[in-house]
Amino acid sequence: MRYLNNKYIFLAFVFLVLTVVTSSFSRNKSTCFIGMCYNAISENNSVITNGPKKMTDKVEKTDEQWRKELTPEQYRITRKGGTERAFTGQYWNHKENGKYVCIGCGNELFKSETKFDSGCGWPSFYQPTDSNNIDEREDRSLVRVRTEVVCNRCGAHLGHVFEDGPKPTGLRYCINSAALDFQSDDKEAQREETK
Ligand SMILES: [Zn+2]
Repeated sequence: MRYLNNKYIFLAFVFLVLTVVTSSFSRNKSTCFIGMCYNAISENNSVITNGPKKMTDKVEKTDEQWRKELTPEQYRITRKGGTERAFTGQYWNHKENGKYVCIGCGNELFKSETKFDSGCGWPSFYQPTDSNNIDEREDRSLVRVRTEVVCNRCGAHLGHVFEDGPKPTGLRYCINSAALDFQSDDKEAQREETK
């Protein structure tokens, strides 16, 4: 009797294995379905790694690291959402040709061609180098709602964007000098010449 039971269990097992094997060969849809699942997963992965706002590009540091790497003023502004006093920053009246990058991570933010004299005492630009390099968030810290501008790579607070800028965008990116580092085109040209 026990032998018979074992035999039946064995036969059931063989039947099960045969069913699984034949279904995966004969039912193409099933195989396809498995394939699609696989594709969907790899597609998702590619979105994470190859999308326009790359996850791998993000710079994440602890508060302690930022505090060590930045000056107290840069830390207060970029990591704590501070604002420098008008007409006191390094770049509000800066007119050299070049690009302005994030002080926290070197992400290119603005080009000097888009800088204009807004008279507000902070570096002002009518457009970022690449809209993917910045992120805009609603800021309700004052009575009037403003749009905060942050670095999309390291999350540094940069300043605010207002809708009273010049053509062609009509926007004014009002940015703290302390959140920026300037890289001169002229210096790059000079370096090229000395090579
Ligand atoms: Zn940054």
